[in-house]
Amino acid sequence: MTQATLYVVATPIGNLDDLSPRARRILQEVDLIAAEDTRHSRRLLSHFSIDTPLVAVHEHNEEAAVNELIGRLTNGESIALICDAGTPLVNDPGYRLLQAAHANVVCVSPVPGPCAAVAALSVAGLPTDRFAFEGFLPAKSSARRARLDGLRDEQRTLIFYESVHRFRDTLADMSSAFGGARRAFVGRELTKLHEQCHAAPLDELQRLVDSGDMVLRGEFVIVVDGAARRSPETKKIDEDQLLAALCEVLPGKQAVDIVARVGGGRRNEIYQRMLALKAKN
Ligand code: SAM
Repeated sequence: MTQATLYVVATPIGNLDDLSPRARRILQEVDLIAAEDTRHSRRLLSHFSIDTPLVAVHEHNEEAAVNELIGRLTNGESIALICDAGTPLVNDPGYRLLQAAHANVVCVSPVPGPCAAVAALSVAGLPTDRFAFEGFLPAKSSARRARLDGLRDEQRTLIFYESVHRFRDTLADMSSAFGGARRAFVGRELTKLHEQCHAAPLDELQRLVDSGDMVLRGEFVIVVDGAARRSPETKKIDEDQLLAALCEVLPGKQAVDIVARVGGGRRNEIYQRMLALKAKN
């Protein structure tokens, strides 16, 4: 190691064999490892017989820790930043440290490796040419629904992290925002002993949870197909024509259900349009 460097090192998201040989070497060679939770990381490092000193850098002390770390870097020490699992800064602390490193012309270097979002995307079977990482949705249901409504016409594949406590509610909210027919994928406990990968429409994923085939335990990534590449204007015209045609042969509620499934719109709005159509005829 020649020049003092801030290494951003990815660590396993479950399977310890996923720590790369380069990551292991860098973690052994640096002067200091900055970790989100030192007790947690100590277990990983002990497993690999790495005895580099550890210092805590987390959401609550990041600002204060940054000065100390930048001081050490500018004095010639090399530091590796790690998080509890996966790639630092991907929904994990480190942003301020990297900003300060760039401002102080400190050499930075990535040591890439596991990341739950990319791992899920790689097996989701959904388009990967354009995707958007949405991280965690808001915990409050009204804010969560508003965020999902705002994403309804997003055409890129969407990647979400979700906690076990909110997973069921989030799937239900996704179904009502995007339509139950929207293709999706759930990666549970990726790279771990109880890994599960399910690719199915959102309403089918909900059924898997309700039937207990998808266990509500562990860590989850949800990947959702983007909206069909049509303009909202075209979609509305098509939907109204479909709605009118279906209303001729089916009860209104059934027609609304079908249009919501096909078009991914909100049932309430389509119901109101159905009432308006009926009033016109
Ligand atoms: N920096 C991490 C990365 O690179 O993926 C993500 C940290 S974020 C605080 C933690 C979230 O990532 C979990 O709540 C879960 O949504 C997702 N996650 C982490 N490990 C996972 C795994 N093994 N399987 C599925 N999801 C996982």
